[in-house]
Amino acid sequence: MSKALLQIDELEVFYGNAQAIQGISLKVEQGELLSLIGSNGAGKSTLFKAICGMVQPRSGSIWLNGHDTKGLAPARITERGVAMVPEGRRLFRSLTVEENLILGGYVGRPGPWTLKKVYEVFPILQERRGYPATSLSGGQQQMVAIGRALMSNPELLLLDELSLGLAPVVIKDIYELLPRILGEGMATILVEQDVTRAMRVCDHLVCMLEGKISLSGHSDAFTHEQISAAYFGT
Ligand code: ATP
Repeated sequence: MSKALLQIDELEVFYGNAQAIQGISLKVEQGELLSLIGSNGAGKSTLFKAICGMVQPRSGSIWLNGHDTKGLAPARITERGVAMVPEGRRLFRSLTVEENLILGGYVGRPGPWTLKKVYEVFPILQERRGYPATSLSGGQQQMVAIGRALMSNPELLLLDELSLGLAPVVIKDIYELLPRILGEGMATILVEQDVTRAMRVCDHLVCMLEGKISLSGHSDAFTHEQISAAYFGT
């Protein structure tokens, strides 16, 4: 039985005949922040979808707290403590900010994150609580997506391209809030296109290339040349 919070062994995921994940193995310990980098199509989002039960692996296994998640529906995996902030946010368009947040808490997992605490971290969301979520600015919508994920009190938070489409000043604000958000012992996998930023915040850096892990270790352990070679496959 695995002692890591998340353990992935020899994972293979296909879309039809096309293989998106080719034998990936990795571990995430409690409280660890792992940055996942890689060019478009490397398989990062597919890996997240497999962890969340949104795509079924053809082979290999994903263990959460020592339990195999094989065959579990996404809602059951959320109940076991995994939450994702998906690329593009995917907010419920017809619902208000507050309704989106409340829905995130439907699993009823106990923990530090409540509506009150989300509003403490993102006061602008309290001001906009009655607005349709999709009427907010891109940065504020990202805060709703993060808040909605936190409301399930996850043990593992998957953040997919937090900064996509946001102005640099908004990205800076969100990253400044990260330590406060993650300071509750939650483990995190962060997909980030900005490699420098990804390296700055993480404990462990993983680079994917064409469905495989091309580099893995402490971010200080690699030169820019090594990272560039792992990223571009040169
Ligand atoms: P990006 O940064 O562009 O989101 P990514 O690293 O997240 O890239 P994935 O989206 O996981 O990569 O894609 C991995 C591979 O799987 C790519 O070749 C992609 O074209 C393919 N793929 C992804 N989703 C599907 C799908 N629903 N059907 C078929 N192929 C898919």
